[in-house]
Amino acid sequence: MSSQIVTRFAPSPTGFMHVGGVRTALYAWAWARKNNGKFILRIEDTDKAREVEGSIEHIMESLKWLGITWDEGPDIGGINAPYIQSQRLESYKKYANILIKKGLAYPDPYSEEEVTTFRKKAEEEKRAFLYREYRPKVFDEWDGTKPLRFKVPNIKEYTWSDAVRGEMSAGVEALDDFILIKSDGYPTYNFAHIIDDYEMGVTHVMRADEFIASTPKFLSLYEALDFVPPVLVTLPPILGEEGNKKLGKRDGAKDILEYKEEGYLPEAMLNFLAFLGWNPGGEKEIMTPKEITESFSLEKIHKAGAMFDEKKLLWMNKEHIRLQSSDTQLQTVKSYMKDYSDDILNKLLPTIIDRISTYGELSSIETSEFRFFLNRPKVDIEKVICKDTGKDEAKKHLEAVKEILKDADFSSVDAIKKLIMPYAEEHGKGNVLWPLRMSLSGQEKSVDPFTICYALGKDETIARIDTVCNKIDS
Ligand code: GLU
Repeated sequence: MSSQIVTRFAPSPTGFMHVGGVRTALYAWAWARKNNGKFILRIEDTDKAREVEGSIEHIMESLKWLGITWDEGPDIGGINAPYIQSQRLESYKKYANILIKKGLAYPDPYSEEEVTTFRKKAEEEKRAFLYREYRPKVFDEWDGTKPLRFKVPNIKEYTWSDAVRGEMSAGVEALDDFILIKSDGYPTYNFAHIIDDYEMGVTHVMRADEFIASTPKFLSLYEALDFVPPVLVTLPPILGEEGNKKLGKRDGAKDILEYKEEGYLPEAMLNFLAFLGWNPGGEKEIMTPKEITESFSLEKIHKAGAMFDEKKLLWMNKEHIRLQSSDTQLQTVKSYMKDYSDDILNKLLPTIIDRISTYGELSSIETSEFRFFLNRPKVDIEKVICKDTGKDEAKKHLEAVKEILKDADFSSVDAIKKLIMPYAEEHGKGNVLWPLRMSLSGQEKSVDPFTICYALGKDETIARIDTVCNKIDS
């Protein structure tokens, strides 16, 4: 057997991908990449009633957006194809027959009504209902019309080692004659995933803690089939912001692609999800996908629940925007601010980047804060004039600044600032800078007047000052 690490992500196509699902995929992928192993995408679609159309495409689109690439999967094939469970029914039948031959599987002899009666009786007697207690003495031949059940061979306490949780154990009550293949011909999750993991050579199974309770069942099936179990890696639950309950749809378990729509960067999302239950140690929190896969380790996965904190995601996104080249930043900003000239966007880029946490914010910021760069604003003259100075003084300062700017060097924000500041300091900063900023922007709140002058350029700056001076006179 090769010692290659093989992991898989095995979602059921029952809806959109949410944070928890993507985090599972990410850890499995990171562990494979870290070890130069293989990462498989497998679709578990054996519960036809719960299937939601379009989910498979949505799952693949979500993973692709985040850069979580698979080496084998439904779209690209691979040596263990097919990768969709509903297309692997022959495999399940093969192993079902092996178990039947061993006397370890039998068709369910009871009708639904009979099982309900057993269940009721157990309830009345205040004991757990266990199917194995009603196991028939002689097994019928299986013709596929009845569910096929596993005859649990060893009713014993199981202990196992989980790569994150350590030693675990469960009593015999966790074991029962569970269904392997349903009467509709599809296998159960309990059976199918064990066959697939074996056939696909999966060495590590990363999944949520909801599967712990079923682990004794899986272990007894591995034993019955003489399979070596993979390493089990239980991921910590993701908790809502109050930190005490599992993440619900309302407090963040939303469609991962909504974050894409909102303008989050995939590398920031990846970074955030990676730290949701794992930390390489040390202070460094902003990591590129490459740094994450290089430093990923199972020992550093946390046991305790991880708190989903959208504020942290926002912070990480801002940091990742800052890591981008200015060319990439500019191209992205342009896609949100299509009407602005390259010249203005180039000049405003540092201000814009400083202002945002996601590019998506630009849609509203652009109209509320930057529109005056595009169109000359209507300036309310009353607001240009400072209360304690009056209109003559406002005009005097505007004229003076205009004179300074006429011969100024407009090559940087700093150059402009250096020229205006001595005058402003001499006459009172507010008395000078407020009328200037109002004249140029028409807004009580805006970026500083030096940045505005720089972005507008000399001609437009002077023209806007002139317009206001003329209005003060009239
Ligand atoms: N199909 C299962 C689910 O979506 C996968 C569990 C596993 O990874 O084994 O929950």
